[in-house]
Amino acid sequence: MDISKRNKLFIDEINSNKQLKATRDNLVKGQHPSLLVVCCSDSRVVPEKILSCSLGEIFVIRTAGNVINEGELASISYAIEHLNINHILIMGHTHCGAIHAVIHNEGFLYSDPIAKRIKHNILDIVDEKTASKVNASKEVEYLKEMFPDYQGTIEYKIYDIETSILY
Ligand SMILES: [Zn+2]
Repeated sequence: MDISKRNKLFIDEINSNKQLKATRDNLVKGQHPSLLVVCCSDSRVVPEKILSCSLGEIFVIRTAGNVINEGELASISYAIEHLNINHILIMGHTHCGAIHAVIHNEGFLYSDPIAKRIKHNILDIVDEKTASKVNASKEVEYLKEMFPDYQGTIEYKIYDIETSILY
């Protein structure tokens, strides 16, 4: 991929779209996203596109398998404390390579913090769709435990990469 060329395309898009340019310019003063999304690093799962969001609308944390370890938790803590995020969405997805690898013991070592976390969440579940749901729902429970005073919504949804439906 030609990085400079792709960036130029984005800059051209901003320069030809008054509203987008105004949004970009306004965001220089600071960000006020209302939604935080924790989703997989999978290239097919792009929260800004899935939720039709523009610049500044969502605070995104991506890890393989949408798991929450130390660094992710710190990022979430920052967003809650400093950005007044009122909605947290854990976005799992179908055909997740990380979930598949853990279930089939492929590639990932259990010493890997990501695999370890997924295994901790899904235990011995072998159905991948069920595992994706359980993995995401366990992270919701974890956040509710870690931030008991948080007043906003914490939920999970699964993105179906075959239909683009988030359910
Ligand atoms: Zn995935």
